[in-house]
Amino acid sequence: MKSLTPQGALFVVAAPSGAGKSSLTRALLERMDNLYLSVSHTTRNPRPGEIDGREYHFVDDATFVDMVYHEAFLEHAQVFGFKYRYGTSRAAVELHLNKGHDVLLEIDWQGAQQIKSRMPSAQSIFILPPSREELERRLTGRGTDSAEVIAARMDTSENEIKHWHEFDYLVVNDDFDTALDQLATIVTARRSRTTHYAPKIAPLLAKLLPTTDLG
Ligand code: GDP
Ligand code: ADP
Ligand code: 5GP
Repeated sequence: MKSLTPQGALFVVAAPSGAGKSSLTRALLERMDNLYLSVSHTTRNPRPGEIDGREYHFVDDATFVDMVYHEAFLEHAQVFGFKYRYGTSRAAVELHLNKGHDVLLEIDWQGAQQIKSRMPSAQSIFILPPSREELERRLTGRGTDSAEVIAARMDTSENEIKHWHEFDYLVVNDDFDTALDQLATIVTARRSRTTHYAPKIAPLLAKLLPTTDLG
């Protein structure tokens, strides 16, 4: 056996806006231990009820550009027709992974591509809405965005959805609890992989194999 040092697993969740990504990941985090959400940086304005440091770190363009220059992001992208910039802080993610915590990134498809090429062991999940009509209903029903913003997000959605085949897993968020179960199953399967699980159960392996050197 090579490494018995626990290292967290990285999960990437992407979806067109309104598919239910935030609601599903919030519920998943409540259900599962040892899973941490990476709080992204963004240049968009906070929505009513959003708190700096909780949903996002809200920063201005100059701060974001400075962070890019200093390579503070694991990935970053311009989303919604280059209007806003979003990025994942390298330090925050690495700190968690090195402590053996699993980390979940809620990012767009461009960010997912960057993460997969830099950290191939990351597992990526794409969440689909059950129909275009339902996607629009959810964006409207959420009550957080103007008609203009909703129209722009519907326009962007096809461009996002066409990247479905780049992801390791697909989840259709029709019935919420069914989709949540599916997500939890994906996380559990990844955690059960030998390379991930063996370090966590190293004391058990040592007891079961008293005369074997586990390295
Ligand atoms: P929502 O999709 O309606 O929840 O709207 P948000 O404003 O929260 O997110 C806008 C887009 O930015 C989504 O596609 C997110 O997945 C993406 N996003 C959020 N954080 C990050 C990040 O750190 N990196 C990248 N690459 N994309 C992000
Ligand atoms: P995203 O983060 O992908 O933009 P949200 O999690 O904000 O999406 O969900 C968009 C809206 O759809 C929210 O009002 C949420 O309560 C609702 N929603 C999410 N999943 C479902 C579902 N399975 N059935 C019905 N409504 C849903
Ligand atoms: P919203 O502005 O509605 O919160 O998010 C819009 C989109 O930005 C979502 O699809 C979300 O996944 C994406 N997004 C949020 N944070 C990041 C991030 O850190 N990196 C990237 N690449 N995309 C992000």
